[in-house]
Amino acid sequence: MQTSSRNDVLLKRSLAAVWHPCTQMKQHETLPLVPIARGEGCWLYDFDGRRYLDAIGSWWVNLFGHGNARINAALTDQLGKLEHVMLAGFTHEPVVALSERLARLTGGALGHCFYGSDGASATEIALKMSFHYWRNSGKPQKTDFVSLAGSYHGETIGALSVTDVPLFRDAYAPLLRVSARVPSPDWRLADPGESPRDFAIRCAGALEQHLERHHAHTAALIVEPLVQGAVGMAMHDAEYLRRARALCDRYGMHLIADEIMVGCGRTGTFFAHEQAGITPDFLCLSKGITGGYLPLSVVMTRDAVYGAFYDDAVTRAFLHSHSYTGNALACRAALATLDIFDEDDVVNTNREKGARISAAARELAAHPRITNFRNTGMIWAFEVTTADPAFGRRLFQAALERELLLRPIGSTVYFMPPYVISDEEIALLAERTLDLIAGMPD
Ligand SMILES: *Cc1c(COP(=O)(O)O)cnc(C)c1O
Repeated sequence: MQTSSRNDVLLKRSLAAVWHPCTQMKQHETLPLVPIARGEGCWLYDFDGRRYLDAIGSWWVNLFGHGNARINAALTDQLGKLEHVMLAGFTHEPVVALSERLARLTGGALGHCFYGSDGASATEIALKMSFHYWRNSGKPQKTDFVSLAGSYHGETIGALSVTDVPLFRDAYAPLLRVSARVPSPDWRLADPGESPRDFAIRCAGALEQHLERHHAHTAALIVEPLVQGAVGMAMHDAEYLRRARALCDRYGMHLIADEIMVGCGRTGTFFAHEQAGITPDFLCLSKGITGGYLPLSVVMTRDAVYGAFYDDAVTRAFLHSHSYTGNALACRAALATLDIFDEDDVVNTNREKGARISAAARELAAHPRITNFRNTGMIWAFEVTTADPAFGRRLFQAALERELLLRPIGSTVYFMPPYVISDEEIALLAERTLDLIAGMPD
């Protein structure tokens, strides 16, 4: 790759001083880092003006483009007022307004918002709150959690214990109190001729069998509604969520919806669980909630959960905190993001845009090397037939040469573009991805 000295200097300094996430650093001996000088809309630029279409929303966080004028203006205004104050004993307008607004989006069902900074901390908060709720309710034996095969809920020790991605989990296995795993309703695993819905019903049956035996010790089931992201965009029928909700009610357990990736319009409704017509007991949001600007996460819950902690005894309270809990700038970015949803009628607009993206990808979907082409809302994914174990890395590299930022998971390629992607950018993405796949060695 041709790079100017400014790009080169930044790469060298980065490799010397920065330990990059989710990376075997030695691979950067041959795989160059990508220097980014600025972003605008769906594009990222280096110092030479070389550009990349951000087809994965910068790791699933960006909704309305880089350098969004409306979010920028809100943050500039907030900077003139208050950047941050501790949330224990203090409060401020952005955190109150955001909590009220999020509660309204759940129809008032989840009226209590507890804040963290990252997705993994939201998972930790939901697990701890569920466990502590049962303890406060005279059921301290409910200490276990159930998660789905292929689940991903973050990589801190607690979150990793409900995560089932061996590459991330196995090295730390001795540190984890591993949760029970039930089969994933991922429709790619259905029998030939079995519909996604029938397969979801069969998997809910397996969950029922597990709970029949273990419910007395189980605090909660945690799921990624509709799309399990990190395992490779595994999609399932909403019927699974309806049945899971009914089973959690029947067996006296919480349902934790991890909507860190699927929330904020990504699956075609503002929250993914809406498509099943259910309400979880805990709802975790992060990633897109600030439009991809600032780290923020939130766990929302019901009056009944909040009420179980409300007491004269301090030890019955939820004594969990992070230094940046409810950061004012992050909350303001989230409010600006929700404003855009309202002003631009984003959920409905995305329906039409999603249809245009699917149409543009028709030829790609029909390519003989591609299987399981699938779509939920603003997520598209497919597998590429290949014998190359380094396929993902090679495609990432080849895509950069065609101005595309794609980051396959194994042989699964996916698009999760910012919602502001234009028709021209959609056409460019579909055509160049098709070229790329056709040109990859078997
Ligand atoms: C990304 C993600 C997390 C973890 O969020 P971080 O901010 O990376 O800690 C948890 N659950 C799901 C479903 C995610 O996609």
